[in-house]
Amino acid sequence: MTLELQGIGVSRGIAIGRAHILFHNQPDVREYLIPAFGIEQEVDRLNSATEQARQQLLAILDQIPTNAPTDISSFIDTHLLMLNDSSLTSVPIEMIRSRRCNAEWALQLQRDALINVFNEMDDPYLRTRQDDIDHVVTRIHRILADEQVAEHEIPDGRLKGHIIIAEDLTPADTVLMQHQGIAGFVTEHGGATSHTTILARSLGIPAIVGIESVRRYIQDNEPLILDGELGTLIAGADESITAEYQEKLTAFRAHIASLSRYKTQATKTKDNKAIKLLANADLPEDISLISNAGAEGIGLYRTEFLYMNRAAPPEEEEQLAAYRDVVESMDNPVTIRTFDLGADKTVDGGRHHGPTVNNPALGLRAIRLCLSQPAMFRTQLRAILRASAFGKVKIMFPMVSNQQELLQAKNQLENCKQELDREGINYDHHIEIGVMIEIPASAVCAEMFAKQVDFLSIGTNDLIQYTLAVDRVDDQVNYLYDPLHPAVLRLIHMTLLAGKKHNIDVSMCGEMAGDPRLTRLLLVMGLSHFSMHPNAILEIKQIINETDLTQLPRNTLDILNIDNPFDAESRLEAINAYN
Ligand code: PEP
Ligand code: MG
Repeated sequence: MTLELQGIGVSRGIAIGRAHILFHNQPDVREYLIPAFGIEQEVDRLNSATEQARQQLLAILDQIPTNAPTDISSFIDTHLLMLNDSSLTSVPIEMIRSRRCNAEWALQLQRDALINVFNEMDDPYLRTRQDDIDHVVTRIHRILADEQVAEHEIPDGRLKGHIIIAEDLTPADTVLMQHQGIAGFVTEHGGATSHTTILARSLGIPAIVGIESVRRYIQDNEPLILDGELGTLIAGADESITAEYQEKLTAFRAHIASLSRYKTQATKTKDNKAIKLLANADLPEDISLISNAGAEGIGLYRTEFLYMNRAAPPEEEEQLAAYRDVVESMDNPVTIRTFDLGADKTVDGGRHHGPTVNNPALGLRAIRLCLSQPAMFRTQLRAILRASAFGKVKIMFPMVSNQQELLQAKNQLENCKQELDREGINYDHHIEIGVMIEIPASAVCAEMFAKQVDFLSIGTNDLIQYTLAVDRVDDQVNYLYDPLHPAVLRLIHMTLLAGKKHNIDVSMCGEMAGDPRLTRLLLVMGLSHFSMHPNAILEIKQIINETDLTQLPRNTLDILNIDNPFDAESRLEAINAYN
């Protein structure tokens, strides 16, 4: 009998292989009393387990190929840092001494305390750090329990071609298993933004997360099919289903291999419409990916990473150094967005104790926060202006909702320019200014903004959230988050028309720009500047270069009038199937 289980597809690709079930995630931890004379011995036991954990991680670091994306080693570095932190080293030792409890229990108590602190944080990114604590603590627990089969000791070759089924996986597990040639993995927990799934995408491992109790339904070594795009896991497939997926797999591999030829090709449709493919950068490490993907610039440089997980905002010199690095490493323009903090990205790593806000996404975030913190805003504007002396830079303001905000932001920029002039510091006097269109009000009034700026950039992630009143970080209403909703499409269309009328560039930097299903539709709507995660660029380029806009059905834009999601989906399929 065929069994089909559904989870969240977080890393595309098809895997066909036998199941390898991992059961050893959580060692059983119990408390017992240590006699007074044994306390120091127990402390030594914990210290030595921590040291072994460190050695294991260092050994894993050594195994990471030098050409692997830097975020892979940075995940392991995070775990190493945690192992050096007193909250995981000194505090449990104090507990062993004060409670006279065993090392496992002290570690478990401290793990629970730290997880509670993280649980109370509003910032979803910081909440995912709970996973890191769990992974590090579990590693030490396994050593204390003297489990011989730590993941790096699984004999080479045993996992080759297997689909790993686990409760959860650590980033370190993921790297090691990729070395051992796993075909894919499925976990019971995890989300689309966890470190492990980010890694899976970087490493090209097909993966599904969130199939509850999957280890109960699947038997060790049984043949499986995993579709990392649709999030489907199939067990007991008959010959015809297996053959169908074999074909899909061959086609997927051929597709990825064929993309490399687009690296050096110009981006234009068959009917010769030139398109610009730009990259989104969230971290300095993304820059090497961007150069490899052949992006024609950075359409969105998110600066929030500079502000997160620290008590005080970065000084001008620190920011200048970060921006200068990016600008100097790119031959093309870099669009730096002023800090979009607030809502799900807290200002100071969650330590900020302002008034309790019921609707943070509708509260003091992005440009509103920039304008309410003029000193912090000016420090950033000065750093961006100074970076413009080293290459082509554009400035972009997030979440602008009215003309007044834009005017105030421009005034602040003007003040900073004058300051720099007085100080004799060089910058680009003609630096371009743009706003993000990510609130329905600004899309409706896009024409007014178009008259005041050099470019617009559509932030679809927020535009969808605010248009459909769907919190983008709330799983429970995720099913309503629909890029094809006619209201969303019409607002995008309005913005594109406003740019055209006033002869300014309009780019799109939300996730819609990197979704291959939407490329043709966006082209027909008139989008010419797409900004996306670097890994998506070549695939989108292929679609663009193979599209002849003159051949697409004349009624393509009727999709803006379809109010039934199923009909909109089938219309989209028809557009994409057209040759
Ligand atoms: C967006 O909202 O689409 C966007 C690109 O900005 P962010 O995802 O950083 O809010
Ligand atoms: Mg946004």
